[in-house]
This record gives sequence, C-alpha cells and structure tokens, in this order.
Amino acid sequence: MVSNSKIEKKADGANPDQLTAAFGRQLSLASRSIHADDYTNTHVAVAPPMHVSTTYRYPRNPDELVPWSDVDPNDWEDFYIYSREKSPNTTRYEAILSSLLGGPVVSYASGLAAFHAMIVFLNPKRVAIGGGYHGCHGILKILKKLNGLEQLELEDEADLARLQPGDVIHVETPLNPTGEARDLDHYRRKADELGCYLTVDATFAPPPLQDPFRHGADIVMHSGTKYFGGHSDLLSGVLAIRPDRALPRDGRPGWLAGLREERLHLGGVMGNFECWLGVRSLRTLELRVRRQSDNAARLVGWLAEQRRAGGNVVADLVRQIRHSSLQPEAADPDSWLSRQMPNGHGPVFSLLLKSEEHARRLPSKLSLFHHATSLGGVESLVEWRAMSDSSVDRSLVRVSIGVEGWEDLRDDLLRGLQTLSEELKD
Ligand SMILES: *Cc1c(COP(=O)(O)O)cnc(C)c1O
Repeated sequence: MVSNSKIEKKADGANPDQLTAAFGRQLSLASRSIHADDYTNTHVAVAPPMHVSTTYRYPRNPDELVPWSDVDPNDWEDFYIYSREKSPNTTRYEAILSSLLGGPVVSYASGLAAFHAMIVFLNPKRVAIGGGYHGCHGILKILKKLNGLEQLELEDEADLARLQPGDVIHVETPLNPTGEARDLDHYRRKADELGCYLTVDATFAPPPLQDPFRHGADIVMHSGTKYFGGHSDLLSGVLAIRPDRALPRDGRPGWLAGLREERLHLGGVMGNFECWLGVRSLRTLELRVRRQSDNAARLVGWLAEQRRAGGNVVADLVRQIRHSSLQPEAADPDSWLSRQMPNGHGPVFSLLLKSEEHARRLPSKLSLFHHATSLGGVESLVEWRAMSDSSVDRSLVRVSIGVEGWEDLRDDLLRGLQTLSEELKD
C-alpha cells in the first residue's frame, strides 16, 4: 500500500472485508452506511473531518518518494497528490458507496459527468437507449458530433439488432419521469447475445430497493444528487463497477484504474464540500429511502383506490397514475419486477391530469409539496414536468416523495385537487 500520509495518525478502523470476517457475514446495509469508511479514520474525532486542501505534502524523506507513475492505481489507499485525482473526502464517500452498491465506485461532479465518463470509457460506436433522463440524450448528441456515435432505440428490435460487440445497452430503471420499471434480465440476455455492455441508470431506485449487479449490469450509474445527497444540496454522480471487471484479469486492464485515470483528465471530480455532505447524507440513506418508498407506495395505492371508486376529485382530475407498483407484474411475487425490486418501489411517480392547464396549476394549490425539479430529497416535490423537459406529455406532473408523514401528503394532494377543481369548474 502506497502512502504519503505518515504525518497523520495511522488509520485504525476495520475495513468492510475485515468487518465481514469478524462477524462471519456481511453487515446490514444500514450498518455499512455508518461503518464502511471506518478504516479511513485518521483522527480521534468521531465526525468525519473536511479536508479542503487541493494539494498534499510529499514525504520529507527522499527515500520514501514514489513518483505518481510508479503507483498502482488499484492500490493507492493513502496516496494523495492533488485533489483532481482524489481527496480524503472522495475516498470516504466512495468507500461507503462501494460497500452499499456492491462494486468499486468512482464519483463525479454530477450524474451527467458520470454518464459522460462512462460512455467515453466504454467507447462504443452505438448506444441503445430508451426515453428516460433527457440530459443523457444531450451527452450522446455531443458525442455524435465529436465522433459519429450512433444512438439507437432500446425498445425497437430492428435497432437493437444493429448493435455490435463492444456497443452499449443503457437501461434506466425505474424510468424518469414515470417511475415505471424495465426488465434488466431481458436486456442482459440481449447484451450477451450481441456482445454488448449493459449499463444501468439506477438513480430512481437506490439501495435497498434494487441491485442491478444481481441482474448482470456491467456498470451501475447513479445521479448521487438525488437519494445519496438526499437533501437537495449537492451535485454528485456515481459509477459502480461490476466487481469482476474492476481489477486487472487475464491480461485485461481493470476498469477501476481506467476510470480513475480518465477522471483525472476529464476533471469532473466532486468538490471536497460535496463529498463531505455526501458522507453525512449516506449515514441515513437506508432510513430515508425506506420511508420515502413506503410513503410513495401508500400514496399511489390511495390515489389508485380513489380512481377505482370514482365519484371523487381524484377520479375526476387524474387521467392516469404511473408507477412501478401499478405495473401488472407488481401483483405477481414471482414476476421479474418483484424479483428486481424486492424491497419496495421507487419514491417517484407521475400523474397525467385532465388537461395541460390542470397540470400547470396543481402545484400552486399545494402547501407541502414544493414546485421544483429534481427528486430524492427529504422534502416532497411536485413538478409540472413541461417546465424542464420538453419531451414529455404536457399534462404530466411528476411527484417525488419525501419523508413527511404520508397522511399529510395525502391531505395536501386532496385539498389541492379540490381547490383546482373549484377553480377550473366549467
Ligand atoms: C438527475 C438525473 C440524472 C442527471 O444527474 P445530475 O446529477 O443532475 O447531473 C441522470 N439520470 C437520472 C435518472 C436522473 O434523475
């Protein structure tokens, strides 16, 4: 292990592998989110320090100087030179996420910076992608301009058949903005047939809701801005690498070192403060996500029930509710959907309202839901989606559920729909 941090107290906490060995099993997600970074503790302070330095002192002893080019990027534990490469805050944030996501993690300045780095690294000639987050399409457009990268339609069999070995099948699930899921096993089989990589944007279902590695993902991407940050106050992107691809094998270089090296040059690292906030946020990830998922399931269940019953304001104004919990497969415990999301559905869903005017006005009638874009924070948000995404139905309202009491959210929606109904009465 290469280190230049001898002036600090040596780290003394157990790493995740040591903890697993000591307990004879892997610790729970909740425990790992608190302790997976213990091994990086170099100070007696219980709360993690924030290092703001961009640069780090080399060892004073000339015999201990190891030039950067001689450092193995797979084993650089305590080796710090310059914070565009990494900082103690990144190390800690990535250590926790590597444990939670089940594969080594490289973090980026934003979700889109992570998506960009992923496509640049895999360097496909073609990417099959469906709808989903519009910004990812924007990156593919830039790459098309630069090198002719072709964008194919994920749900078009003729398009999929055009994929060649080394190309990418990119699946976002659950999908923005509807919160509906896609079958990862199905796309893994396609990727195997065609010799393609399967990359998964799993932003809408963070741990413990879904583990795309169980379904054969090569890289799992997250916009950490959403649930990992969880408080609407930091930008972050995350790539987790399937463990058997991360380190060098059979003469092939490992993806971990490759992505780290390219990140150093692309420059899209997370800031020190964002990583520090990210660590604070990850401590409560499991608590927040379970609560948000549970709240969303209750609200969607209630809305769907109102529509079935009829003769009420929900049935009058909501044309359609879209969420993975309402997909037909959700009712079958043996379906791909139940296997893929065994611990609950994502906290985002969409409502298609009676008209564009209803969608434009509903947010102004709500007291608890803020009218804003983004998702994943502790506060519930609602967005007339046309505000930020020109590709969706203009009568669509996207809802991101927070950690409030679900009955309060229900009553807020009910009151809002009632007021709207009065206002637009014809
Ligand atoms: C927000 C989001 C992104 C982009 O992430 P940023 O952190 O905003 O760059 C990508 N994919 C999905 C599904 C998202 O929700």
